Amino acid sequence: MNFIEKWLSLQIDLGSFDSRAAIWSFAAKMSFRAVILACIFSLAGLPLLYAFGILTLSVSEAVKLSVAFSWLFGGAVSGALALVTGGVIRDLAVSRAEFERLSQTDALSGLSNRRAFNDALDSVQGEASLAIIDIDRFKAINDRFGHHSGDMVIRGVSDILREVFYDCHVVARLGGEEFGVIICGGGIAQRLALVERARMLVGSRGIDCQGQVVSVTISAGVAEFVVDRRSECVYARADNALYMAKGEGRDRVLHEQSMILDDPHETAEETGYPRAVFGAVPMRS
Ligand code: GH3
Ligand code: MG
Ligand code: MG
Repeated sequence: MNFIEKWLSLQIDLGSFDSRAAIWSFAAKMSFRAVILACIFSLAGLPLLYAFGILTLSVSEAVKLSVAFSWLFGGAVSGALALVTGGVIRDLAVSRAEFERLSQTDALSGLSNRRAFNDALDSVQGEASLAIIDIDRFKAINDRFGHHSGDMVIRGVSDILREVFYDCHVVARLGGEEFGVIICGGGIAQRLALVERARMLVGSRGIDCQGQVVSVTISAGVAEFVVDRRSECVYARADNALYMAKGEGRDRVLHEQSMILDDPHETAEETGYPRAVFGAVPMRS
């Protein structure tokens, strides 16, 4: 039984059901194998039946008949079944892939959702920055223009973030009017400059809501992934920096560095950074 299961799973290579041609080729293969198997069983079994006197025809006639029936019925039926099975398996694979995509996607913005973002946070390797971005005074936008326009503002900001961070690992809507971006590559200054660019683009473009251009600004807090720093800690620091950006008047990007420099008791060793790196980061005052 175990052997048959293994053999069957070897025959059904689920990875290859990605086109109609692959399904037809699978069906043809299964049909051919079924016929060969049927022929082997007939050739082995018929002489035995003859020896026990059960077979009323001559062995050669019986072999001809069984080979013909194997091709006609065994081959056709198993081919048809394999065709249907292949189609069903392909449909299942397609809907599973779509389900997986949807489970990782935010419905309103089309960006990654918090779940995908959390997964990405845990798999960051090497140098990277985390930016937590929040739309300023969004409640007032909702109150003034209505919830539907608020949704359009979220979509508009999402489009700009997607445009600015197009080659980054993850741009996600974390909930409400808050976004998370994991920025990889380059140095700290380049990554920070990207967040600043997003802020400037949102502020200068405005968002088109049903023919009306709504002025929107965003604030962002940025923190660094460094060796031996857990992703929860990076998140907390970026969130803290965002909180400070709000406190300092909004429409600004604040790097965690500014909080470190504010605190004379915290040393570079405690943060995991060489101090020299900070000097190179252009900060918005
Ligand atoms: P701050 O500058 O401090 O961030 O102020 P804020 O008004 O943006 O922040 P607050 O948290 O007070 O308001 C966020 C509002 O976002 C409250 C909530 O009703 C609204 N909101 C949350 N999710 C959605 C959404 O999916 N669509 C819309 N239109 N509004 C949302
Ligand atoms: Mg807000
Ligand atoms: Mg918020």
